[in-house]
Formats: sequence, C-alpha cells, structure tokens
Amino acid sequence: MEFQSTQKLEGSVLHLSFSGTIDEDTNFPEVDLSGVASVQLDLNGIKSINSVGIREWLDWIRPVAEKAPIVLENCPKSMVFQFNMVDGFLPPQSSVKSFFVPFFCESCDKEQNLLFNVGHEVAVDGGNLKISFDAKQASGCGEASCSLEMDVTEAKYFQFLKRG
Ligand SMILES: [Zn+2]
Repeated sequence: MEFQSTQKLEGSVLHLSFSGTIDEDTNFPEVDLSGVASVQLDLNGIKSINSVGIREWLDWIRPVAEKAPIVLENCPKSMVFQFNMVDGFLPPQSSVKSFFVPFFCESCDKEQNLLFNVGHEVAVDGGNLKISFDAKQASGCGEASCSLEMDVTEAKYFQFLKRG
C-alpha cells in the first residue's frame, strides 16, 4: 500500500497524518516549521515498515524533532515494535499520546487492536506501568463467551513508555 501523507496547520500546531507502507519508496513530506510550536503526527493508517523504511524514518524525524516537539498518536503495533527496538526511533523531543495494543480472543480466534491513551488506559508512575483497562468492557466480537486477552508481553510492549 502506497505511502501517503497529509498536513494541515492549525494555529501553531502542525497536524500530519501518515498512511500506507514505510519502505524504500516512501517520500516523507517536506514540512515548513516556521511558526510551528508543535507537531501532531497521526500514524493510524501505517500498515508496515521495513528496515529501509526505519532508516528513512530516522532521517526524517530527527531534524523535525530538533525544531518542534512531536506528539505521536494512534500508533499501530508495527510502529510500537520499532519504538521499543530502534534507538532514536522516538526522538527525545517526541512523546506518544496514544497507541494500539493487540488483543486476542481465543473463543472466536480473532485479533483486535484497541487504542490505549497514555495517562488513561496506561500510565507510568514512578517507573512502574499502570494499566487500567478492562478487556471485558471492550466490545470484542460480540459473543457472550468472548474473552479478549492482551496478545503481547506487557513488560516488552510498553517498554518505550519508560524511556528516560
Ligand atoms: Zn470473542
């Protein structure tokens, strides 16, 4: 799926959204940061990222983050894996507002990605993760027997929230 981006300046906040695949064919947008106080980057539509894409991402985000703080939202699983694995993928001047957590229901054999907001469903308190999310409240598959369970190892998947 081809990479696409949109951007819109609202006051001093630049809203960017990315979708598709991040790979060798990705052309990240040129951004004009004059008068921009912060960047909101919506990654909801990102499908995948490969190793070349990771390098392209680093080349794009570093100079942007040096000029304006970046807030990432709706980050899919494929990007969260990179947050945890690739040094600098989340520059020090960036923060994550919301991201998807994969859940799995064994009774219906279905995966579902649920959005966690940092400070709500998950928070870091004194170096400890606090997860306040009731999978039973999530819609799941609608079956009475539905039992959504987190499909990742908490300590690993949420690791990026503890970066110093
Ligand atoms: Zn189910």
